[in-house]
Amino acid sequence: MNTEELLKYDREHIWHPYTSTIDPLPVFPVKRAEGVYIELEDGRRLIDGMSSWWCEIHGYNNPTLNEALYKQIENMSHVMFGGFTHRPAVELAEKILSIAPEGMDKIFFSDSGSVSVEVAMKMAIQYWYAAGKEEKKHFMTITKGYHGDTWNAMSVCDPVTGMHGIFHGCLPIQYFIDRPERRFGEVCIEEDFRELRSCFEAHHADMAAVILEPIVQGAGGMWFYSADYLKEVRRLCNEYGVLLICDEIATGFGRTGKLWAVDYAGISPDIMCIGKAITGGYMSFAATMTTDAVATVICSRDPFVFMHGPTFMGNPLTCAVACASIDLLTGYDLEGMIKGIERQLCRELSPAALMKQVADVRVLGAIGVLEMKEPVNMAVLQAKFVEEGIWVRPFGKLVYIMPPFVIKPAELSKLTAGLLKIVSEI
Ligand code: PMP
Repeated sequence: MNTEELLKYDREHIWHPYTSTIDPLPVFPVKRAEGVYIELEDGRRLIDGMSSWWCEIHGYNNPTLNEALYKQIENMSHVMFGGFTHRPAVELAEKILSIAPEGMDKIFFSDSGSVSVEVAMKMAIQYWYAAGKEEKKHFMTITKGYHGDTWNAMSVCDPVTGMHGIFHGCLPIQYFIDRPERRFGEVCIEEDFRELRSCFEAHHADMAAVILEPIVQGAGGMWFYSADYLKEVRRLCNEYGVLLICDEIATGFGRTGKLWAVDYAGISPDIMCIGKAITGGYMSFAATMTTDAVATVICSRDPFVFMHGPTFMGNPLTCAVACASIDLLTGYDLEGMIKGIERQLCRELSPAALMKQVADVRVLGAIGVLEMKEPVNMAVLQAKFVEEGIWVRPFGKLVYIMPPFVIKPAELSKLTAGLLKIVSEI
């Protein structure tokens, strides 16, 4: 198949994320990728601004991660996790739990972020069932959140921008309150907690858990909110007997400048989801962690087990690459590394604040966001970014970058310069 035939077959038969089969968005054929560069079939090289959706923190084709995979493949690529265990899974559990927020003691491996959210929500429901409070089966969340595309994950995504309209009447009903408008770094005032508190007061009796993305809301709006708000959520969960689920699938493993976004608030959740960067972006994998207390309650009432067990749970190949990724990460001066990217993003993106088409510029850790006044044409903009030799995929009003952690200052400058040039032409 030559490149043209390949693209034709793709267009006629393959569904890409959030696209039409009738009028698909254009796609660019990739030949290979290395470090922060993605090489297209026609030889063009793009500096990656997306880390393949938050994942590729160590860069592509990383020799250490490759080596971990080669080694593991010689032993076994897969074996069922029911009735078996293996070194890669145990070592990975030990590595993650030793760096996880305080109290995380039990870990459940799954295949993707959305599934880990389903698992977290099932844990919360089964916890209250086992505690004899079966009426606690609803979830509270904040608007503009995103937790995945599977059924229950979808029910706690933003009700307007999510898929609630299409699936109206089919999705479980949840409690939504407005996202916190107080920005990251600002101090909350009493008024900021008003809706939060009244929702707890009104609904705590049938609320199983609050679920949210701590500090950074990703795909729902790339919004960074005050750590005070997260602290207050934790306090109210304790006061009203509601579990707290933190979805760190996008924020985890250093992206925000701390290892976990919850570290900004100095809190620990009862249940936490991680994914994306867990394998350094090599394979789909995720995990749901919880405390000993939650796990013990879940397993103390009939059926005395947690009712979930995916086929590829604890896949050894994936665990091996995740172990190597975490070793790389803990070997970095992570906070220093991300601070360097953050400073450079602040410096190089701030001129965009003066552009008439830009409503807001915000940076946190290795995430830089330009919020436009009007929605952008993704296909047009993306093609222009490619011409500039950079890979940026905007959505709605958001043009944003979250590069691999290993990006060098000169590469980051090329990325931000290309970004600003194209945005200024809108
Ligand atoms: N939660 C958050 C915060 C996410 O950003 C994502 C992915 N964008 C998910 C859940 C879903 O993860 P996955 O796409 O691996 O199912």
